Amino acid sequence: MKPTHIEHIGIAVANLEESIAYYEKVLGLSCYAIEEVKDQRVKTAFFWVGQTKIELLESTDPEGPIGKFIEKKGPGIHHIAFAMANATEALKEAEAQGVQLIDKQSRAGAEGLKIGFLHPKSTGGVLTELCSKE
Ligand code: ZN
Repeated sequence: MKPTHIEHIGIAVANLEESIAYYEKVLGLSCYAIEEVKDQRVKTAFFWVGQTKIELLESTDPEGPIGKFIEKKGPGIHHIAFAMANATEALKEAEAQGVQLIDKQSRAGAEGLKIGFLHPKSTGGVLTELCSKE
């Protein structure tokens, strides 16, 4: 498998509005979409930086994955997402190489992408998302 680029960097934030203001006012980026992903219990905000995006993640539930992450580690970088030709195939290839998967099957993520996560235990501590348009 070979990623074409970094699709996005996911950043856990305590307050979406305050974080959007930082990215817009200090970094001069503009938020082009805000989307709630109900099954992940997050509200997301997106910014383009070249062909890569920044994905801000605010928890909508303290028991959700981002709620727990922030409670344990505080706000900060949460995951890196690589753009793949086919996320489903890429997950299978990773599994065949002995990588522990969080998602055995790709599922629907924000922005209509197919996504799946590799377990940080198998990736040197970096929560890794593989995503594709198919
Ligand atoms: Zn992501």
